[in-house]
Amino acid sequence: MTEVKKQPVVLSIAGFDPSGGAGVLADIKTFAAFGCYGLAAVTSLTFQNTKRVYGIMNQSAESVLEQLEPLFNDFEICAIKTGMLPNAEIIGAVAGFIRAHPVAHIVVDPVLKSTSGLELIDDQALGALLNDLFPLASLVTPNVVEAQRLSGADLKSRQQMERIAEAILKTGAGAVLITGGDSGSSLATDVLMDGQGTELFNEERIESNQTHGTGCTLASAIACLLARGRPLRESVPIAKRYVAQAIAAAPGLGEGNGPVNHFPPGFRFER
Ligand code: PLP
Repeated sequence: MTEVKKQPVVLSIAGFDPSGGAGVLADIKTFAAFGCYGLAAVTSLTFQNTKRVYGIMNQSAESVLEQLEPLFNDFEICAIKTGMLPNAEIIGAVAGFIRAHPVAHIVVDPVLKSTSGLELIDDQALGALLNDLFPLASLVTPNVVEAQRLSGADLKSRQQMERIAEAILKTGAGAVLITGGDSGSSLATDVLMDGQGTELFNEERIESNQTHGTGCTLASAIACLLARGRPLRESVPIAKRYVAQAIAAAPGLGEGNGPVNHFPPGFRFER
């Protein structure tokens, strides 16, 4: 009999973007690219294309919990990635559920706005993210704009980014990755900070409007690598390279902020 090799199971708890650029569809494609089996619980149904978000219909906290319960009854989940959690009720419910069903790796992508600029989360939810969810996270992955809004501070310099990263670590998160710093410069700076120290990634800024869902994709890729047993400091540069390739190979769909290619030619994930 041939032995069946089990794929690591990774769960996305996020919004549904019917255009497939962001949210659970982007997450599931990323999970597949990294050889993981993807599950998803939808927190909000959004109505959008590459040009704009036309509306959102949030799920109730009960509906989110009812999606999660059967999955945890049946699957051994190696990692969770959270994305759009639109309000404090849903964040509280998800945090309570995770506390009752601990999972080794939890990557929290604090989604605040759509790529086209619509607020996807209300103000009370910010406090719930910081107080309820971040303490459970192995990693939190805000971009500079999200980190700014979460901290209420300006993030002009790398020193300020590091101070905000420190403040986010103080919430109890295991690590924080702030992406896309040093706006205005041709180099983009990412700051990764955990209990062991700080690592900076300086790279050429990628000028493209084919970036819809890149935050979701980066966080999902890191969740998969952690699920596969890679250490965080190894996972971040692999995931960043994957996102850069996914942008470079974007299919050029839609008239607005187009989606990336989650299966870029040339990207081979070494198992
Ligand atoms: N999640 C959903 C459901 C979205 O619609 C969006 C953006 O439109 C995002 C997350 C955030 O996308 P990004 O990864 O580009 O930050």
